[in-house]
Amino acid sequence: MKRKISLLLVITILFVSIFSNSLISVSAGSQPVIKNVIYMIPDGGGFALFDFANAVKKAGGFDRSKFPNATKITRNSMYLADYLIGTEITDSLSGTTDSAAAGTALSSGYKTINSYIGVDSKGVPHATLLEAAQLAGKRTGIVATVPWAHATPAAFAAHHVSRGNVKLLSEQVMNQGLDVVLGVGFEAGSYYGSVDEAKSRGYTITNDKYDLAEVQPGTKIWGNHYPDMIPYDIYLDADQPTLAEMVDAAIRALDGSEEGFFLMVEGSKVDYGGHNNNLVEAVSEYIAFDEAFKVALDFAQKRNDTVIMVAPDHDTGGLTLPDADSVGGSTDSSKYAEAVAEVQQGINSLKNNISWRTTGHTNRRGGVWMYAPEGIAPPEGLSNVPGDTPATRELVIDNTKLAPYLADLMGLDLEEATKELFVDVTNMGTFNLYNRTFTFYDADISIVANQSVAVVDGKQVDLDGKVAVYSEGRFYVPKILIPKRLILMDEMKVRTARYRDELTGRVLVKGQIDKSFAGKKVSLLMYKQNSDPSDEDAIGYIDESTINRDGSYVFTFNFAGNVEEYEIAMYLGNQKVTDTITEATANYSWLDTSVLLFQEKENDSFVSDGVLIKNYDNIKGLTYCIALAFYDANNKLIQLKLSDMKEINSDTIFDNLEASMPDGTASVRAFVWSNYTQLIPLGTGDSITVQ
Ligand SMILES: [Zn+2]
Repeated sequence: MKRKISLLLVITILFVSIFSNSLISVSAGSQPVIKNVIYMIPDGGGFALFDFANAVKKAGGFDRSKFPNATKITRNSMYLADYLIGTEITDSLSGTTDSAAAGTALSSGYKTINSYIGVDSKGVPHATLLEAAQLAGKRTGIVATVPWAHATPAAFAAHHVSRGNVKLLSEQVMNQGLDVVLGVGFEAGSYYGSVDEAKSRGYTITNDKYDLAEVQPGTKIWGNHYPDMIPYDIYLDADQPTLAEMVDAAIRALDGSEEGFFLMVEGSKVDYGGHNNNLVEAVSEYIAFDEAFKVALDFAQKRNDTVIMVAPDHDTGGLTLPDADSVGGSTDSSKYAEAVAEVQQGINSLKNNISWRTTGHTNRRGGVWMYAPEGIAPPEGLSNVPGDTPATRELVIDNTKLAPYLADLMGLDLEEATKELFVDVTNMGTFNLYNRTFTFYDADISIVANQSVAVVDGKQVDLDGKVAVYSEGRFYVPKILIPKRLILMDEMKVRTARYRDELTGRVLVKGQIDKSFAGKKVSLLMYKQNSDPSDEDAIGYIDESTINRDGSYVFTFNFAGNVEEYEIAMYLGNQKVTDTITEATANYSWLDTSVLLFQEKENDSFVSDGVLIKNYDNIKGLTYCIALAFYDANNKLIQLKLSDMKEINSDTIFDNLEASMPDGTASVRAFVWSNYTQLIPLGTGDSITVQ
């Protein structure tokens, strides 16, 4: 009876997740269809800098007789102020974030460690909005005022644990095959590629603002506008483009395709002004960014298929204004009017008791500004009435919420894109560290890390911007590169294990006894601490289970009380064997597994089932086996093929089971069996019909 209950729980969990997915697509159907997303990041642009920049704009901007090439202001206030919908928490897994971890959260929805680009805390790559958009056939671009493989742009188009490895990151960005890359050219440090290489890949090179003005729709452009560094906006040369001019050209180049586009724009150097504790620099960059936002706004407002999302990755400098609010800003600029007047003249003012808290980043909340056509709901928790009010500044979401939200608007699924782009094939071949080449064991297929070209049966195959990634000892390739002799029949994913569950109070107890006890019964007794276990009132839970083939046993059950107040004892017959418990916890985490079912192209009677087990924190020592079940036309099981029981002993397991299909097979199903749950078919509708 007990077992049935726990199986039912699993089904309930599956059902809930399927149900909530369908809810999302139902509501999305009633909204306008979003083709284009422009994602704008004022790097380091916290609220104090925003408010100060707004004050400078309100006062008429910088003195143009002194700064003639600065971005021209087209309105005496920040456009962004009309579009505030709330704020975001910017922290990374390292605490106060850097641009790499924050960029990764904004691009992929994954919190990670500082310096990590496009990978989670274990170094596993996750698809970004840009990559998912590219996979869906959209045009893609990045615009930045720092080198194009710097942390923020790289976080949209590259994957590696070190932001400092710009050679590797730039190689990945170049191989992504983006349609637009604008900003600094190739002379920044040890970058991969060159102007000539960009040309040979079909890019038109733009060298100055006049080239940009000529850009035609559909052109692939690569900007070579500055040597290795771009001046702050107010110090631009006459022929150097402003961020607004780059955004204008980028949108023109990207627009005009049926599928739409995704553009990432970074106002990169607000951050530099913050690090330098220099108000003139930071304000110059923030105003230039706001005018670039206006260019995007002019494009989006003329149509109903474009969303602009704006969010800084973090605050830099911790500027302290008089009477700062909870996000560090102060919208009453009369309190710092003298400082504003000095900054307009290019003086890095400290008047009106203005001060800086640090030359580093802070953990202040950042703004979230959005323009969307009517009928688009904002991210959950943020305001659907845009505008910069104290109340809006109190609305908060996490920075990881924006990427999945934007993906949803475009009808994209980041998790699905990750499955397409980054299949962990480490156990399917060997990686040669010297030439960075991965070669499959049983197929004539090899690919070099960071490249988007593979060699298949001696021939070069262009993977169309899908890049192979080597990260933390694991190798990832796009799914289309899985040995071609095997046709991918289907893929299913389900979450199976449960450990951490403070909400429902689910408890897990697992342990290990000598193998010779396999098949015998083990009893679990959970009783109040410091009480007699034979006292009925003291007993919180009692159950019996059969010891597995390998000597392991597991109990999972729900418990409404506080497990901390209880002790657990195990009995083998009358003998107490509590010391066999290897883990007892009221927590659960998910064991993510996916099963890939293949059929050999040349030989219809052969199938292979590959299982990928990931993210299994705290379940080392558990065992699993995989299975293929063959059914006839009447759905009768003809044959069940099981692999050996194996121990889960590494972060990610890729395993497979091959079998010949028995005569009369009409369908095949794949399973993963674990010793802590039932035999669970992976996914619903997971039966593969044999042609
Ligand atoms: Zn910074």
